[in-house]
Order: sequence, then structure tokens, then C-alpha cells
Amino acid sequence: MRFDPTAAPSETSAFWMPFTANRQFKAEPRLLASAEGMYYRSVDGRQILDATAGLWCCNAGHARPKIVEAVSRQIATLDYAPTFQMGHPLPFVLAERLADLAPDPLRHVFFTCSGSEAVDTALKIALAYHRVRGEGQRTRLIGREKGYHGVGFGGISVGGMVNNRKFFGAMLPGVDHLRHTLDLSRNAFSRGLPEHGAELADDLERLVQLHDASTIAAVIVEPISGSAGVVLPPRGYLERLRAICDRHGILLIFDEVITGFGRIGGAFGAERFGVTPDLITCAKGLSNGAVPMGAVLASRQVHDAFMHGPENAIELFHGYTYSGHPVAAAAALATLDTYEEEGLFNRAFELGQAWEDAAHALRGLPNVIDIRNHGLIAAIELAPREGSPGARAYEVFRRCFHERDLLIRVTGDVIALSPPLIIEPAQIERIFSTLADTIRAAA
Ligand code: PMP
Repeated sequence: MRFDPTAAPSETSAFWMPFTANRQFKAEPRLLASAEGMYYRSVDGRQILDATAGLWCCNAGHARPKIVEAVSRQIATLDYAPTFQMGHPLPFVLAERLADLAPDPLRHVFFTCSGSEAVDTALKIALAYHRVRGEGQRTRLIGREKGYHGVGFGGISVGGMVNNRKFFGAMLPGVDHLRHTLDLSRNAFSRGLPEHGAELADDLERLVQLHDASTIAAVIVEPISGSAGVVLPPRGYLERLRAICDRHGILLIFDEVITGFGRIGGAFGAERFGVTPDLITCAKGLSNGAVPMGAVLASRQVHDAFMHGPENAIELFHGYTYSGHPVAAAAALATLDTYEEEGLFNRAFELGQAWEDAAHALRGLPNVIDIRNHGLIAAIELAPREGSPGARAYEVFRRCFHERDLLIRVTGDVIALSPPLIIEPAQIERIFSTLADTIRAAA
């Protein structure tokens, strides 16, 4: 059967859409045909302001000429080359660039094709690291409630979102979770980082008392989580996690799939928060979403532990067909050039105050129970409607997209915003005034 993009996808569509209520979507399709700068164009010709950078990935905006050119040139020059025991220059060049952007001891880069793969890779590196150092009994992994670490079995095991876990069986054994840090009773309507809750990091010390440090390999957290509805670290929380990890020889992994590449005004959250983990996972903004790519950045100490085995042995028995893919690497290099030439990380930092003020101006609107922000991220949380959680936010999303030509994202009762870093002040204004109208109209 032929697909007609202007008609509603039928009940029999061959495309099984990810993370989608497919039956609901078929009644109300939202199909995008093209994109440029801050805007998408829908198949019915409407220009739609992108307040989500796609899925938190197009940090430099859409169809940026330098990236388009680099990708086209690379496909024509070297479309694919294996990187198992051979290679090509691009991932070496890109890894150096990333190492220069990352906080100092993070000097080595393992490439993947997505955030989920980066997370599973980081967890495997952590387990193997202890093993190659003769501490193979350190097998326990610790994540956090409301954490999102992609959809691999490692990621959903350390992740803390119930719908991602409940359908898929028993998960990895030996995983524990810290409590999440969202506390509306003490922190509602905080601007920037919340004041209260650093002590929640002491959950890690309790788990050490319960299991003994000698059994714990790593802790993984997002400095700021996006998918669970934007959960910010209370002041002092990440520092405290770092101190407890140091005390007990536990590796600290920051999942920076959304906080990497300028979103909060620096190359990585690690730098902005002044806390350096042993491993960073990233993806999305790494290649501006143009070609799938993820990466794990590892500290010198972690990497070097693998370099002490017998010569000619494969030190880390792990990799993907597309690790360091030439077209993805070319897209990433052009993306990093674009960020640098246009000063986009700094721009995100400088726009942060206007963004915060515009977001918090929505306080007092019907059903708004919290507003959170950091860098160019904001969340507006609505009170759940009795009996149908998420319905209020979905209604705002639906009206924004279909009636007001604005793309926002909702997870549960939270409206999450993460625009491209090229956003102009007038577009910030438009996003929040449209949202204000829509939240009022939907109430
Ligand atoms: N980790 C975090 C923190 C994420 O936000 C995401 C994606 N939203 C992932 C991992 C998974 O990335 P991907 O969808 O590329 O596998």
C-alpha cells in the first residue's frame, strides 16, 4: 500500500512509531516535511516554531549549512569504514576535539550511535574497569528514581521511570536506586537550582552501609534529567555524590545526553556544576541530531586501567558496527565548529536570564503548580486532572501544535522546553505568551 503523507496514517500503517500511542496518533497525525533554523514545516505547509530542538538534539537549529555540506561531502568521500582493528582519521580528530571540550581528566572517547548505547557502554566500562583492576566483585550499579538512561537493558535497569521498566521483566540484577530530588513541597517555583535537598545524596552512603563499598561499581545520574519532566540537582547534591564516590572507590557517571553541548551554557554540565565524573555519556547535540551518534568520555584513570593487560589483547571487548561512523563524525565536527563559530554555548548562558524571567511569568496561571529552569531548559508542571494524569499537559501540547504552530514537549503533567540555542529574544517571548494563552484556554 502507498503512503499518502497528506492523509491521516491508516490503522494499517507499516511504521510502528516509537514511544507513541499509535492509535491516537492515527486520528491526529503530526507530520513534518522540512526544517530550517528555528522552524519546522509541516506536510500541510505550516511553519512551526521548534521549542524543543527536535528531541533536545538540534542545539544549533535545523539544516545548518556547514553540517549539511560536511555530511554530503563525507558520504561521497568515505561512506563507511570499519573501526575494529582498523579505522579512518575522523573519529581520532573528533575524539581530540571532545577531549579538549571536556573537563581535564576526561581524555578518552568511545563512540556509539545513540544515548542508549552510550549508557550501556558506560555501564560495561565501569564493570570491566573494576575487573581489570582485580576488583571484579564490584558489580552493583546504582541509578536514581525518575532517571532516564535510554532503552537498552542496562539503561532501563538503572533508570527510574516505571513505564520504561514494568513491561520488560526482571532487569539487570544487583541494581539499586537513589531517591529522586524533585520536592515541590520545599522547592516549587525555584529559579535555577533548588535550595533544598542536597542531603538526598546521602542515600548513596546508606547503600554503601547496606551492601559494602567493595560490591558497588558505579553510580549513574543525569546532572539534569529531561525525560522525567526536568529534575534539577539541589545545590550541593552533585558535589556530595562525588565526595561519597571518592571515599569508597565508586565510579561516578554523568549521563549528559541532554545537558551536553551548550544546553545549560557550557560544553558539559560537569563544567557548569564544577563536579567532574569518571565517565560522561553524551549524544543528541553531539551531531546536532543530523546523523545518529553518541559517545562515552572516560577519565585517564579509567582508560589507563585497560592499557595494562597483555600486549595485542583487545582491552575492552565491546563496540558497534557504526562506532566512529565517518558521516556521523563529519556531522559532529561541523556541529562543534558551528557551536564555536557562533558562540552558542555562551549565547545559551547569556539568554538564560531572559528565559528564566519569561518562564516564571507563567506563575499564577490556572493549574500551574511549579516552574523550573536552568540554562535554556524550562518545565511547567500542571496539576494532574483527577483520573487522567497527563491529560492537561497533552491538551496544551495539542493546541500549541495544531492551533498555534508551536512545538513543545510533554511528559506526564510536565511541559518541557529546550529550544535550539540560536533562539532570538522575540521567539522566547512568543513561546511563553503562546503557552500562557493555551494554558488559560485549556483550563
Ligand atoms: N540518556 C538521557 C539522559 C536521555 O535524555 C536520553 C534520550 N532522551 C537517552 C539517554 C537515550 O538516548 P537515545 O534516545 O539516543 O538512545
